[in-house]
Amino acid sequence: MEIRKVKVAVIGGGASGLACAITCGERFGKNSTVIIERQARVGKKLLATGNGRCNITNRNASPEHYHGDEMIIKSVLNRFSPKDCEKFFAKMGVLFRDEDDGRVYPYSNQASTVLDGMRMYCAKLGVSEICDFEIKHIKKNNGFFSIISENITVQAENIVFATGSKASPSLGANDSGYKLLQNFGIVPTSLKPALCPVLTKEKYKNLKGVRSKGIVTLFDGGKKIISREGEIQFTDYGISGICVFEISRFISECRNPKISIDLMKEYSENHLCDYLFKCRKIFTNTGDILTGALNKKLAQIIVQTCGFSQKTCRELSESDIKKIAHTVKNFTFTPLKSDDYSYAQVCAGGVTSKYIDIDTLVSKTVKNLYICGELLDVDGDCGGYNLHFAFGSGIIVGKSVK
Ligand SMILES: Cc1cc2nc3c(=O)[nH]c(=O)nc-3n(C[C@H](O)[C@H](O)[C@H](O)COP(=O)(O)OP(=O)(O)OC[C@H]3O[C@@H](n4cnc5c(N)ncnc54)[C@H](O)[C@@H]3O)c2cc1C
Repeated sequence: MEIRKVKVAVIGGGASGLACAITCGERFGKNSTVIIERQARVGKKLLATGNGRCNITNRNASPEHYHGDEMIIKSVLNRFSPKDCEKFFAKMGVLFRDEDDGRVYPYSNQASTVLDGMRMYCAKLGVSEICDFEIKHIKKNNGFFSIISENITVQAENIVFATGSKASPSLGANDSGYKLLQNFGIVPTSLKPALCPVLTKEKYKNLKGVRSKGIVTLFDGGKKIISREGEIQFTDYGISGICVFEISRFISECRNPKISIDLMKEYSENHLCDYLFKCRKIFTNTGDILTGALNKKLAQIIVQTCGFSQKTCRELSESDIKKIAHTVKNFTFTPLKSDDYSYAQVCAGGVTSKYIDIDTLVSKTVKNLYICGELLDVDGDCGGYNLHFAFGSGIIVGKSVK
């Protein structure tokens, strides 16, 4: 059995683990820090971020874009700004490019630039990686953590848990990090998928692939919970798109959730009625009455859900027209609660400030045990906020390690 002794063992070579290891390597020098990775390579999820472009941070990163443990959120964001993120990556030669809504990408437009930059910088600092490391168990003896696999044991003065969440298992994510932490008495809050498409009771196969701009609002028993504006992508199982992703985390908290989509936000219901009265004279088939306003397939489904497909335009009464206008402004879906992490970008829930000190992210009960990244009870909106938090919390841990 090979035994390696280090000052810091970072469990998980993802966004937060790499940022943490770099900071430790800078502080403690060559061979001080090792990254222990379960998969064959570090950074697999990082490479998939932003559709392979890596939305690395967001200029608007502030607590209102995050959910979960407010104390942890504020503590990390107060000490790690988008400028700090840019400075951190400048050390690796990674340039930033700004896009809409504060989103920032690597100038190269390639997530691999970010991962390569971090890995090469790790190598320069003498931070090593051990991949394919399946942790059997971790024990703490005489102030040292022993991280034990089949043929290697890493002994470390400090251990950092950066194992991420179980979102997107196809990228290798699982719940092993939560389980390892539970052996130290650290228990996450209940977990649920977030930033994911929404499965709905209503399935409109014809709408598959249709995109439309609109406002998506989640209601619980008639009470408005959250609204987001953007492009909605219709699928054969439900709805998707960034605005849908952002409301997805709230569905499991609702007793009677409904999603209403306003497909023509610039028009009031009255204006829309005036328009439809004109269209009633222009078109013959009711299925065509919205053709000039909406995607053809969407237009037909709206009329179909109103139950008017068989009528001609001339047969539509004033109340029929009002119903169509109302449906365009309130195209309603019933979301199905789902525990499926397959398409989730992140996981809501995690380790709270009950267990960790918010300044150093060190465990309150286990000395020299730190936690960063998505394992913590923090999830952000879509747009670079999650990576920003992962990098920031990783760097803060790297600076806190003693
Ligand atoms: C498809 C997709 C696209 C995304 N796009 C964006 C985006 O553009 N911008 C953005 O801000 N966020 C994005 N996110 C979210 C972002 O990727 C995560 O929030 C972020 O990677 C979390 O960082 P982390 O270090 O906590 O975890 P991860 O990056 O997931 O890293 C955890 C690492 O730990 C390893 N590991 C797990 N368990 C063990 C174990 N027991 N032993 C050893 N190693 C272990 C894993 O293999 C992994 O390498 C996206 C997520 C997905 C799934």
